[in-house]
Amino acid sequence: MGKGWQLILRLSLGVILTLLLSWLGLGQAWGTFPIIRSQVNYYGITGKTASALRQQMNQLGPLAENGRRFDAYTKWHVAWRYRYGSLGGSCRMTSLTVHTDITYTMPQWQNLQQAPRSLQQQWQRYYQALQLHEDGHGNHGRSATQEIWQRLSNLTQPTCTSMSQIANQAAQGIINRYAQKDIDYDRQTGHGRTQGAVFP
Ligand SMILES: [Zn+2]
Repeated sequence: MGKGWQLILRLSLGVILTLLLSWLGLGQAWGTFPIIRSQVNYYGITGKTASALRQQMNQLGPLAENGRRFDAYTKWHVAWRYRYGSLGGSCRMTSLTVHTDITYTMPQWQNLQQAPRSLQQQWQRYYQALQLHEDGHGNHGRSATQEIWQRLSNLTQPTCTSMSQIANQAAQGIINRYAQKDIDYDRQTGHGRTQGAVFP
């Protein structure tokens, strides 16, 4: 048996093993979907007036990559890992994992109970709008993840020569496109102002 056949045989066994493992519900070399983890980090603010809260957010709000300070900020990061091989006359992925981390940074008004009811209500409205805005950024990260997953899992090439270069360029291109969507979204919404994220 030639070398090529051995490779195909090994890959076929790999596929069979993966199918068997996923059928058994055990660990998967080929994940069945991307893994997206999201977490919210809070920074505390205190105050009993709108202007005190505004001042606190201006001082303590998260710094964006461009050095500007915001009331809230969302960061997403996509990582991918794969193996590929010749299968049925073309090069394709034999295993794939895509992991994404989405981190939201939000303000947390710590002495809200001590403030007048009307200010509390104003804050709730603002906070919901801020959350809506940040979710928009988070959704860009989610969509980028799904697209990368689709693109890489369906990627085929005649040979494996430039497979990794093509795969990485494709994934990076998707990331760049969604990073641009983040920029456009902030421009269109005035960083959430048109969505109601204005305080006071
Ligand atoms: Zn934004």
